[in-house]
Parts: sequence; structure tokens; C-alpha cells
Amino acid sequence: MLSGFFINITILISFIFLFHRLLYKTPLSTASPVKQKIAAGAASGLLGLVLLAYTIPLNETTIIDLRLVPVTLMAVFGGWVPTVITGFIIAAGRLLMDFSPSSFPALLLIALSVMSGWIVHTTVRTIWRRAAWMVLLTNLYMTFLLFMMPLTSWLTVAGVYFLASLTGTAIAVYMFVHLNRVNQMFNRYQYQAYRDNLTALYNQRAFQELIGQAAEEYPAGSRSLSLLVLDIDYFKQINDTHGHLEGDIALKQLSHVIVASIRPDDVAFRIGGEEFGVILYDCDETHALTIAERIRADVARTPFIVAGRPAPQFITVSIGVGSYPEPGKNVHALYELADKALYQAKRQGRNCVCSPEPAG
Ligand code: GH3
Ligand code: MG
Ligand code: MG
Repeated sequence: MLSGFFINITILISFIFLFHRLLYKTPLSTASPVKQKIAAGAASGLLGLVLLAYTIPLNETTIIDLRLVPVTLMAVFGGWVPTVITGFIIAAGRLLMDFSPSSFPALLLIALSVMSGWIVHTTVRTIWRRAAWMVLLTNLYMTFLLFMMPLTSWLTVAGVYFLASLTGTAIAVYMFVHLNRVNQMFNRYQYQAYRDNLTALYNQRAFQELIGQAAEEYPAGSRSLSLLVLDIDYFKQINDTHGHLEGDIALKQLSHVIVASIRPDDVAFRIGGEEFGVILYDCDETHALTIAERIRADVARTPFIVAGRPAPQFITVSIGVGSYPEPGKNVHALYELADKALYQAKRQGRNCVCSPEPAG
């Protein structure tokens, strides 16, 4: 009996782990998209079928199983859609395994559990309370059905079922909660590792990685690639005049203008301070100069809202363009090329776009 129970717990833990890797990268909740809820219901139904196949023998004539734990999980986390789907799959599986008068109480038990799950999910707010209610209600139904059966040891079976379902549900809900938290933290740290805190654009680290990837994907001049490096003109004055906080707002607004001026496949970065970068994929120098000029003009004509100043404020940017393929240069040299061009733009008086001067 104990080994059967441990096998069930192992199945629960393994499946819940797999589901979190595949389906619940964003945690399953009432607010999840319907698609995720349907997938969750199907997956939990499958888990229910596996549990149905691995029954726990109590003695020669009596077996129990943990098929209702997946129903409980969906009722606790996902709401009525996955709960109903899970219940439906388990009921169908149960009927396919054995269609006899004994199927009726089994179906009734699943139907009652699904309905209770629906009600518990909508009326009870916290996860552990929902789980407790589900254990209580499913055990009530189970005890009643056992009582109605011609079974002398119904009370013992009900007691063992209570212990098994309580432990199984507690472990399953704990795993679910824990893995939800792990996935949420992983998503958050992954986002933070590659994003700039202030503008939410990609950061220097992401920039280095994408340039590294591009170097592998664009061998020996097969495709063109361009990099823009933008620097705000006289930004120190903006900070000095309006304060650092207003400077930060200008940086955020600039990031919006850049993103609105480029194609969805191109990637904008905040390289650091008031310097930004844009990787333009499959874009030669002529096109890159056009895009850079568009960004420059968009920035120059966009008023920046500064608190307490009735008149709109404006900033300008200087932009350096580096393009690949460039004789004797690889993708990694793009930043150096674009940066040199940027300094040229600054020397030419700012608020302009430059590409590297031809060598020689
Ligand atoms: P130039 O036209 O030559 O680029 O002049 P500049 O004033 O923009 O250049 P400089 O390098 O002298 O000054 C850059 C300024 O950018 C100084 C610094 O205070 C400001 N800055 C850098 N990072 C931030 C930030 O995160 N927030 C704010 N508000 N200002 C920043
Ligand atoms: Mg500057
Ligand atoms: Mg600068």
C-alpha cells in the first residue's frame, strides 16, 4: 500500500514539474489566457488518467487512487475551464476502462468534485483555503459513496483515503506554489538582466550578446547589418537647467521616440548614460543613414514635457552609423565604427547623422 502511495506522489511531482517547464512559464491563475487554461485542463486530465492507472491497493478487494488531485489543482489555480476539462477527461478515461454499474458512483464523484471546484474557485480567495475546502468536500462525497456501498470496512477505507488525498493534495499544491514562484522569479531576473531600469530598453549586456549572435549569423559579408549610436546633445545642460529627474523623463521619452521610429525587428538599447544604440538587421549603410535621419528628425520635432515649464522643451541627438560588411572589419568592429562616426557628428555641430569617413 505504501509503495503504491509513493508511486502516486512521485507521478504527481514529476508531472507538475514538467507542466511548469512546458505550460506554466507564466503561472496558471484565474487571469490566465483561455488557451493556457485549456492546455492546463488537458494536461491535468492526462495526469488524472495516469493516476487512475496506478491505483493504490489497500487489501485484496479494495483500491484507491488520487485521480481527484488534478481536479483539485485546477480548481485551486485555474478556475472552471481547466477544472471542467480535467474532470471530463478523467470521466471519459474511467468509462473507457470499465463501463459497468460501478462506473456510476465514480462518475458522480468526479461530477460533484468538478462542480465543487468551480464554486470553491469563485468563492474562496486564497490558494491554501481553496485546497482545504476541496479536500474536505471530495472526502465528504467519497465517504458518503463508500458508506452506500456494501463494504464492511468503509470507515477504514474512508480514513485511509482521507490521509492519502490530504497528503497528496498538500504536496501537489506546495509543488505548484513553489514552481510558480520559481518561474516568476526566473522571468523577472531574466528580464532585469537584459533591460535598462530607467527606459526598459535592452541594456549593454543584451547589446553585447546580440552583436555576438549577429557575428555568428552574418558570416563573411553574407548579409548587411548596421548599428546606430545616438548621443543626446548638450544633455548636461538639460540636467543643469531642469534637474536630474526631468533629465530622466527626457531619456524615457527619447526611448519611446526611438522605438516608434524603427522597424519591429530592429533592436534599441540604452548603452549607458545618454547614449543609445539601434541594431538594424539586414540593413545596408544607405538605408541605415535614412533611418538615422528619420530618428534624428523625429527627436528634434518631438516636444519633451518638463513639469512646471509651459513652453515645450526640445532636445536633439547626434547619430553615428556603422555598417557591415565593411572592408577588413567584422561585426564586432561595428560599435567602434559607429562611435567614431558619432564623434564626427558632434564635431560637425551636433543634431546630425554621420557615417565613417572612407579610409585613405
Ligand atoms: P554632448 O553634446 O557633447 O554629448 O554634451 P553632453 O552634455 O550631452 O555630454 P556630457 O558627456 O558632458 O554629459 C552627459 C550628461 O548625461 C552628464 C550626465 O549628468 C548625464 N547623464 C548620464 N546618465 C544620466 C541619467 O541616467 N539620468 C540623467 N538625468 N542624466 C544622465
Ligand atoms: Mg551627450
Ligand atoms: Mg555621451
